Amino acid sequence: MQGSPIFTRSIGRSVEGREIIVHANFGFAVSPPPRNSTLLIGGTHGNEPATVRALEDYLQSPAWEALRQFPTMVLPLANPDGAERATRYNARGVDLNRNCGFNWRPDCEEPPGPAAWSEPESVALRDFILAWQPAKVVSLHWALAEIDADGVQSTPLAQAMWESLDENARRPYRLRVTEPGRGQRRLERIYAACPGSVGQWCGYGLEYADGSAPAMITLELPYDPEAEARPDELPEDHLDTVRALWKTDAAGYLRGIEPGVHAMLATAIRFPAHS
Ligand SMILES: [Zn+2]
Repeated sequence: MQGSPIFTRSIGRSVEGREIIVHANFGFAVSPPPRNSTLLIGGTHGNEPATVRALEDYLQSPAWEALRQFPTMVLPLANPDGAERATRYNARGVDLNRNCGFNWRPDCEEPPGPAAWSEPESVALRDFILAWQPAKVVSLHWALAEIDADGVQSTPLAQAMWESLDENARRPYRLRVTEPGRGQRRLERIYAACPGSVGQWCGYGLEYADGSAPAMITLELPYDPEAEARPDELPEDHLDTVRALWKTDAAGYLRGIEPGVHAMLATAIRFPAHS
């Protein structure tokens, strides 16, 4: 038996010339772009290897195979130079998740680059999204244990992802959506926290030609899949905890998070549900 084909293309090159590769379950020759497609992104920060592995594993999973009729694009490693160095930044020391052209701030806490869209990795992602117009974007990060929706249009998807988790898989996560009446306050906090992020650009700054905006979810993987409950404040050493866990037992960590991640990605890919 043969699995469904995976189409692969490079969407650009990193500062050091590494290809930035997207996989899809449809040929890239289609025109116009397929409707209601989903883009999954990992490895924006090079020191978050779990996001890359989670997507690579997902591409090999029965879950991916089962959803072949839903147009889906997977970019497992958005920052290949950073992954090579195991650093958050690209080869020029820029945080690609602060380099996008919406609410870009030169005085950002993380290095945002000399200007918005100054980095080839950011430009490749931007141009790819503008060309293929995914209706849903899920960007994986490590490891604040959150399902984070940017823009009110993203709230229903975030809630569907949350509801797709059984009690066990949901335990480490926190759901962060814009609540009615509290939008502006939350917006101000978000704008201050992650200026120039992929989430902000897609969630607040992007509008396709037909007037629609993508549902944008930042999926922060759990710092500990066994955690009893997602605390309001993460323990200060949570990144050390997750990195230590990764060094000693990456496979175990991935197995621990996999049921929840696969359920959420499948939900995003199918959303809105077809009867
Ligand atoms: Zn990150």
